Amino acid sequence: MVVVMKREATEADVEAVAERVRAAGGEAFVSRGAVHTIVGLVGNTERFREIDWEQLPGVDRLIHVGKPYKMVSRDLHRESTTVNVGATPVGRGAFTIIAGPCAVEGKEQAMLATKAARAAGATILRGDVYKPRTSPYSFQGLGERGLAILEECRRQTGLPIIVEVVDVSQVARVAEVADCIRVGTRNAQNFELLKEVGLAKQPVMLKRGLAMTIEEWLQAAEYVAQRGNSQIILCERGIRTFEPSTRNTLDLAGMAVAQAESHLPVIVDPSHAVGKRYLVGPMARAAVAAGADAVMIDVHPDPESALCDGPQALTPDEMLDLGRELEQLAGALGRTINRAE
Ligand code: PEP
Ligand code: MN
Repeated sequence: MVVVMKREATEADVEAVAERVRAAGGEAFVSRGAVHTIVGLVGNTERFREIDWEQLPGVDRLIHVGKPYKMVSRDLHRESTTVNVGATPVGRGAFTIIAGPCAVEGKEQAMLATKAARAAGATILRGDVYKPRTSPYSFQGLGERGLAILEECRRQTGLPIIVEVVDVSQVARVAEVADCIRVGTRNAQNFELLKEVGLAKQPVMLKRGLAMTIEEWLQAAEYVAQRGNSQIILCERGIRTFEPSTRNTLDLAGMAVAQAESHLPVIVDPSHAVGKRYLVGPMARAAVAAGADAVMIDVHPDPESALCDGPQALTPDEMLDLGRELEQLAGALGRTINRAE
């Protein structure tokens, strides 16, 4: 159950609702949206039903969302949400290109990748400093030193940055530096991490877990929203199937389902979905054609020498060509395109 507050509801009205929930033995989660504040009710629904919520000051209505995700559901919020990453609005309003290196490997590599991303029309930079690698012998990321490099990349190009967190202990620090925190596929059901990013004051990109149903993915997003952070971008990045010729199987229909089910922006990461350079372009174009709100692409100045995910990284020239194609395609479909200043 969700209590939707009136536009003019005061803090005291919201607190009074939360207090009634607690008095009924439940827990209240307050989410402050651009227009309405909503209070999510967790606990014994029978006891909640006994309360005449609509008589309480500041309450607009009580909604029963019959799905396991509520705050992120379109049933609660008909209009599509736009999430601002720095000055870049991600959502239905305008198509966005996000690009950058899979991992920050050093100053020069990161700067060259950032410039390649920007030249190709990206208005958000991706770049990781904590890498969740399958092998413990693989490069694990530069950590704090990498954050300083990313800050320098942003300073020189103006691009806002998205950075992955792989542990609760990193959230506060990454949120201080990054414009958007990312939770990767391997942590998409790490509920303690989801709760922690839900408390952060920065937008969150939530990738789909590699074996997650869409319903599970949206419930993971609900963990974030329930803690008060409704600035969430969903990212389809391929799921694991029986097919080994691609790294994962890009589920574009799943992306469209997520857009229909949720008001949150849904984007596509073709690079991690396919794992092979020659497939990134076709899947990025398909994602745009299917209506993705943004695409996120790996670019590296010298993919052969990359410490992480080299086989799927585009060269700066390939990125430039793809950026041009994606803008043409988005334009032909009548989409506005976010462009760097
Ligand atoms: C990444 O984007 O670098 C990454 C690790 O992606 P995923 O979590 O989708 O594997
Ligand atoms: Mn990667």
